[in-house]
Amino acid sequence: MILAGDVGGTKTLLGLFEADPVRPRPIVARSFGTLDYETLEAMIAAFLSGASVDASTIGVTCIGAAGPVIDNAAELTAVPWRVDGARISRATGAARVVVINDLQAMAQAVPALQESELHVLQRGSPVPGGNMAVIAAGTGLGEALIHHVDGRYVPAASEGGHADFAARTEREIAVVRDLTKRYGRADVEHVVSGRGLINVHRVTHAGGCAAAVDLEDPHAAAAITAAAFDRRCPGCVEALDLFVEAYGAQAGNLALRSVATGGVFIGGGIAPKILPALTSGAFMRAFRAKPPLENLLASMPVHVILNDNAGLLGAAVFAASLR
Ligand SMILES: [Zn+2]
Repeated sequence: MILAGDVGGTKTLLGLFEADPVRPRPIVARSFGTLDYETLEAMIAAFLSGASVDASTIGVTCIGAAGPVIDNAAELTAVPWRVDGARISRATGAARVVVINDLQAMAQAVPALQESELHVLQRGSPVPGGNMAVIAAGTGLGEALIHHVDGRYVPAASEGGHADFAARTEREIAVVRDLTKRYGRADVEHVVSGRGLINVHRVTHAGGCAAAVDLEDPHAAAAITAAAFDRRCPGCVEALDLFVEAYGAQAGNLALRSVATGGVFIGGGIAPKILPALTSGAFMRAFRAKPPLENLLASMPVHVILNDNAGLLGAAVFAASLR
C-alpha cells in the first residue's frame, strides 16, 4: 500500500493507494484544511486512524509539497509549515517517506491522465517523445518541466512562479509599478494566482468596484471571477481579462523554456473554475504571441487538467515507481 499527500497553501489531500506501475488505484482519500492541524505528522496520524490503517503496512509514502525541496524536506512558501520526510517517518512509523515538489508530483501524473480528465485548449501536433510542461495557478503559481531523456520522461521541479513577471502591455506595466511599490518586486505569482487576481483588481479599480468585492475576504478571487462572468463590474471584467492573458503568456514562456512539443498542461484549482474564460481565445492568443516562434507554439498541444486530485495521484505514481 502507498500513502500519498499533496500539501498546498490552502488544502492538503491525503490518500491511500494500491500500487500499480501505470496508475495506482485509490483506496481512500480525504481533503483537509492545511492549517487545521499543527503539523503534517498530526494530520497523517488522524487520517490513518480514521481509515483504520496501521502505518507499518505502508510501503512507500510520497508527499508533494508547495515549496522548494532540499534534503527530503520543504519549507512551504504560503504557510508556516515544514514538510520533513525523516520527521514524518519518525512520528508516524511509515518506513520510507519521500518529499517532492507539488508540481513535480503533478507532472508525475500527466502520463497517467485519461482523455476525460483533460480539456483541450489547443490540439496542436504532439511530437512523440517531445518534452512536456505543467503550470498550475491556485493559492500560488507552480511550474514543472517534463523532459524526455534517454527514452523516458523525467519530471523536474522549478520555482518558476517566483521568476520576474514580464509585462507586455501598458496595462501590465501599470500592474508592475503597483506590485513593485507594494512588494519591492513583481514576480509572476503576484499576478498569476488567486492572490494575483486580487492584486490586478487593485489596478483596474481606480473608480471603485461596482460589484463591491471585499478584497480582504478569503473568497475575494472567486467573487471577482463571478462579478466578471456576470459582467456586474467593468473593473472586474478587466481584471479577469488581464489575469487570463498573463496566465496564457506565462504558459507560453514555460513552453519556450522547456520546448514542450509533447504538450503543455494547465493544472491547479483556478483553471477548471474559469474554463469559459480560458476557452474564449485570449489565453491561447497570449500563449502563441511570441514571434518569431508563433508556429512552434501553435504546434504544441495545450490541455487543462480537470482532475483536481492530479497532484495526489502524481505523488502516488512516484511512490509506486520507487517500489
Ligand atoms: Zn469590480
